[in-house]
Parts: sequence; structure tokens; C-alpha cells
Amino acid sequence: MAKGFLMVLSGPSGSGKGTVSKALMEKRDDIVFSVSATTRKPRVGEIDGENYFFLSEEKFQSMVENNEFLEHAFVHTNYYGTPKKFVMEEIEKGEIVLLEIDVQGALQIKKNYKEAVFIFLLPPTMDELRERIVKRGTETEEDINTRFSNAFKELDFVGEYDFFVVNDKVENAVDDIEAIIHSERLRVKRHKDIKKQVTMQGGK
Ligand code: 5GP
Repeated sequence: MAKGFLMVLSGPSGSGKGTVSKALMEKRDDIVFSVSATTRKPRVGEIDGENYFFLSEEKFQSMVENNEFLEHAFVHTNYYGTPKKFVMEEIEKGEIVLLEIDVQGALQIKKNYKEAVFIFLLPPTMDELRERIVKRGTETEEDINTRFSNAFKELDFVGEYDFFVVNDKVENAVDDIEAIIHSERLRVKRHKDIKKQVTMQGGK
């Protein structure tokens, strides 16, 4: 069986990462979502252990010290990190592990995990992006401005990614990501012994 891999999805606040990931996971059963830890307070409707592990700064720092994160970063005004153990176990099982993380985290992963796939999700326009953040209605005016100005800075990093996907419509973005997954599954380096796979199916 082919090993699984890390699939990193980044994109500015309002690019629709959450919506696209959810739609993708509803469609496929070979993707598991890596629940991040954060020191941010939960938004209305967010569930601990499902959307994030909501931690105190002390708990977060102790996980950093114990080397329990695959990557971690200070994003906007809070700490975020990817717990390592879950990700490594799922990859061994052959799953695709979806990491919805910012560019700083993605760059850390890129350095340490060569086999990860990096996708950058873009809004159709920056005007649309701002409208989406405002419409979401979960942030203060100050937070909206921070997220919007950070969005411009994040766009500078798109060149570090393998693929870009424009989220004009969720279905289109999901189709594009599925095409990427299809090709990644066919990568020779992701299979141990292709000759054996073929000969075991009756070839000579
Ligand atoms: P939000 O507060 O809107 O849920 O997320 C803010 C930003 O933090 C988003 O860009 C999101 O992708 C990023 N983020 C979420 N989890 C992680 C993580 O584990 N590591 C890093 N580096 N960024 C994360």
C-alpha cells in the first residue's frame, strides 16, 4: 500500500479554506483533518477538539518545549500549532492528512517534510476577500484590518507552493484539489515497489 502524505492548504483569511476543506472531506474518505492547537478563544459554534484544541498559553508553551508540534507559529494575534503524533500515525496508515495552516507553518513543514504537497488557495479578487471577512461577522474591526493587511503579505509567499487554486466557487476549488490528489497518488516515489504491484496482479 502507498504511504499517505501531508497536504498543506494555506491561503489568506477569507479565502475559504475552511469551507473548501469541509466540502473536500465530505466527498472523500481518504483524507483526515489535522486539528490544530491554538491559544485563540473559540468563536461561536466552534467545538474544542473538532475545530481546534483550545489551549492556554502555558499549555501551548509546554507542548512547544516537549517538541509535540510538527510546526507552530504566531498568526495574527495568537499561537497555532500542528500536533505531531496524530499526523505521523495517519500517514503511516496511508491517509492524506490535511493541514490548514498559515504560510509560516507551511515553510517549516517544507523544510522538514519533503514529501508534503503545498496548495495555496486564492480568492477571486482582494475586494471579494475583504467582503468575505466582513460578512463572516466573527471578527472585530481591528481584527478584520489585521487579517486583511496580513492577506497581502501572505500573497508574497505563493511562489513557495506547488499549486494554486482559485476559490471562485467551492465545487471548482474541490475539483481542482481532487485533480492534484489524483496526480500525487500516481507519483512513483509514493509507491514502494511498482513492479511488484503489477506482477502480483498476474503480470510476468
Ligand atoms: P483562524 O483564527 O481564522 O481559525 O486561523 C487563523 C490562521 O491561522 C489561518 O491562516 C489558519 O490557516 C492558521 N492556522 C490554523 N491552524 C494552524 C496551525 O496549526 N499552524 C499554523 N502555522 N497556522 C495555523
